Amino acid sequence: MKNNNLLEVPNINSKDAKFKELIYNVDASLFNEENYSKKEYEYLCICSGGTTSSCAKKGFTTLDLRKNYNKIHLDRESNIATIGGGVLMGDLINHLQKYNRSFPIGLSKLPGAGYILTGGVSPLSRAYGLAIDNIKSIKGFLGNGTFISLRENQISPEKQLIWEAIKGAAPFFSIITEIELKTIQSNPIKVIEGFVNLNELSEIIKISEEFPENISLQWIYAQKIYIYILAELKNNLEDKRTEEYLMLLDKFPALEKQFYGNYNKINFFPKELDLYELNGNNHSEVLSLLGEDLENDIPFFIKCLKEIMESRPNNSCYVASQQMGCKTKKLNCGSSFFVHRNSTWKPWIYASWKKNDLQERKIVMDWMYKSWSELKRFYPNIHLAQLHNHLNSHEEEIRLAFGNRIDELKTLKNIFDPKSILPPL
Ligand SMILES: Cc1cc2nc3c(=O)[nH]c(=O)nc-3n(C[C@H](O)[C@H](O)[C@H](O)COP(=O)(O)OP(=O)(O)OC[C@H]3O[C@@H](n4cnc5c(N)ncnc54)[C@H](O)[C@@H]3O)c2cc1C
Repeated sequence: MKNNNLLEVPNINSKDAKFKELIYNVDASLFNEENYSKKEYEYLCICSGGTTSSCAKKGFTTLDLRKNYNKIHLDRESNIATIGGGVLMGDLINHLQKYNRSFPIGLSKLPGAGYILTGGVSPLSRAYGLAIDNIKSIKGFLGNGTFISLRENQISPEKQLIWEAIKGAAPFFSIITEIELKTIQSNPIKVIEGFVNLNELSEIIKISEEFPENISLQWIYAQKIYIYILAELKNNLEDKRTEEYLMLLDKFPALEKQFYGNYNKINFFPKELDLYELNGNNHSEVLSLLGEDLENDIPFFIKCLKEIMESRPNNSCYVASQQMGCKTKKLNCGSSFFVHRNSTWKPWIYASWKKNDLQERKIVMDWMYKSWSELKRFYPNIHLAQLHNHLNSHEEEIRLAFGNRIDELKTLKNIFDPKSILPPL
């Protein structure tokens, strides 16, 4: 890496941030408060996949886990995968595919362990739960420097709260260096995809709210609307039922059926959408929401979405959504800090502006907050997939993400990260 204090990461805000120092190892010196106490607010940034605006900040130290915590191992007997805290989701599923196994990663192969630790919503989650529901064990360090090693079904009562909080709120009080994950059989996937108009989106959302657990809808509304309906094919009996549901989509002429040998082979977000996600000239923020089925509110939601898109300040901003539900609603995988288990939709607002154009940034961020306030009546909660402690909305986001567990999280933070060397709550 060039020694110019810039980090090679996918997120452009972080890529452009002149960090203070780069660290690759988790050792005792990391927890020495003198490293961070020079400025009252300074803390350690953690980088795993480097896809968020919080893995590197101007004047802050970054712990880059990608170099020394990137091992992936699959135990062939138990089918449990052990991964380092700096493993990318694409590398994970590429490794697993060699053994015909997979993992419910999200819509992109770029995110790192942050995807897993913040919940992890996959197009396969309706059948296999959130990423956190598939964690078997973790190793790492609390913010006070204490080593922790926790394993499902072997948690002592005094560690129970830490275990639950690792699943959904780990970044606030811990650095996770190793995770064991349940893997899944890699099955063929049928995708129905293509451009649709708003009326068609409305009809398709209605159809999708009746989908069985092996089918999910994801849509993205940028310049145009693109949808993906993903169906995992498992066995002949279920596949017949799947075909019956997919036949309901035959009436949308622009949609095409594609068959993929496995989940790895799918690339979401087609080039034709001209997304600005990785455009080096732009900076961005993303806000992820959570809510339940729209049911009779679909027409009101579509009207609201239309207004939001008509008022978007530039072509790089968009709104998208992915479907949850079925297994993500189940609590039998153990309590966690992903508290909004009743959610069936996770929309997100992507706000982007020409970097260094502070005037445009203000207009775009105002649009993001206005759109959020309008979408709140459909999606009242937050999926804290991105940490926004550099934004004014942070406190409200935290409250809407952790609900009635916020006080427990604050207590854990006070006890296990007393000097606040990790991102603030
Ligand atoms: C293109 C794209 C598609 C996405 N699709 C989905 C999706 O389908 N479903 C979904 O749920 N999310 C999705 N996300 C969101 C993404 O999963 C989250 O933003 C996630 O937090 C990113 O993790 P990262 O490791 O890549 O990010 P980083 O920027 O490297 O890390 C983000 C923060 O997470 C914390 N963190 C990361 N690793 C560790 C660790 N080992 N120990 C402690 N703290 C850690 C740190 O506080 C860090 O600053 C998507 C993001 C992108 C860019």
